[in-house]
Amino acid sequence: MENWTRRKFFVTTLAGSMAAGARKLFAGIRANDNGAHSTHPQRLPGLQTAAAAKATRPVIISSANGLRALERGMEILRKGGDTLDAVVAVVTVVEDDPNDNSVGYGGLPNEDGEVELDASVMHGPTRRAGAVASLRYIKNPAQVARLVLERTNHVMLVGPGALRFAEAQGFERMNLLTEKSRLAWLAWKASTAENWAPGLDSPAWKERVAGLLDPKLPEEERLALSEWLREVVAHPPTGTIPCLAVNEKGDISGTTTTSGLAWKIAGRVGDSPIIGAGLCVDNDVGAAGSTGRGEENIKVSGGHTIVEMMRKGMSPTEACLEALRRVARNYNGDQTRLSKFHLLYYALNKAGAHGAASLWSAERNGRPLTYAVHDGTAARLVECAWLLEGRGG
Ligand code: ASP
Repeated sequence: MENWTRRKFFVTTLAGSMAAGARKLFAGIRANDNGAHSTHPQRLPGLQTAAAAKATRPVIISSANGLRALERGMEILRKGGDTLDAVVAVVTVVEDDPNDNSVGYGGLPNEDGEVELDASVMHGPTRRAGAVASLRYIKNPAQVARLVLERTNHVMLVGPGALRFAEAQGFERMNLLTEKSRLAWLAWKASTAENWAPGLDSPAWKERVAGLLDPKLPEEERLALSEWLREVVAHPPTGTIPCLAVNEKGDISGTTTTSGLAWKIAGRVGDSPIIGAGLCVDNDVGAAGSTGRGEENIKVSGGHTIVEMMRKGMSPTEACLEALRRVARNYNGDQTRLSKFHLLYYALNKAGAHGAASLWSAERNGRPLTYAVHDGTAARLVECAWLLEGRGG
């Protein structure tokens, strides 16, 4: 076990305003002197810790699903390229990937079976922002958000207007719903609407998912697919990729891109495209991004809160924990209600120190939460700090 000096974070903002009985809920918050995370019983092999990583520049971080793409961003930073080029290059890899069903092409659709994407970008040195929301048919919303920043005097475009803008800028329409995401949507429909499930006269009427699968699929594939379908129907997945970078000079940019909550109401916009919630960059201070239940993040303006906390001297991890405390405060620390969602924050300061914190210490499957970091040597996963011990989401 690492030789960390550990200290407890007693919840100052929260504790004062909460009932005495609820205070003990937060006693599990620990951090090392870098503001890095608590130890976790189930460590991933090869996992590093934020404590092991000194502040260094350039550095680029993202949610864990960006791990394989960070090298692309680091290459740009190494050559002295712009931080916005670096973060957009990273998330483009994930947006293009049909197997990541939380972002871009292959993202899980809304309740009508339409993939609707949200994204934002911020460029620290020029202090500009751009965003799109409820964008259909275009697989790279972060690139479109960047053009809103560069080629308009607006900050956010939504829905059909965002689509027309993207097409005017040369983006091509495509069907973003992959076969796997379409099946997941049908399975969700079957679970919620009687008429979308096999009828009484069907041999598959009891097993709604089985009725949707191609009977010619090999048994093993059928099993794996139906297990995944059951999971995404029972627990609508959340996912997103925020990516934040600081270059050698200390210039900072960030982006957050997502397909939002699976099965959302058409037109629902989450936190990812909201400047100050799913993304916030201040070139004097640092940057923050988020994944998870966007509604909860919007209510505390999480990205802005984190940047302001870092401005006051908190480490990136401490600042992320502070934003999570505000989310928990909105429910008076009621763990039953808080356990219905997950929320993670990621932050980077101007010096190149980074951190991330999760509302819960583990995913529903018990795995610890991680984020991805590349500080010039190699991309690696780092454990997140956490506010509450247990499984959430
Ligand atoms: N934060 C995103 C949203 O609420 C979803 C996610 O990260 O899973 O749209």
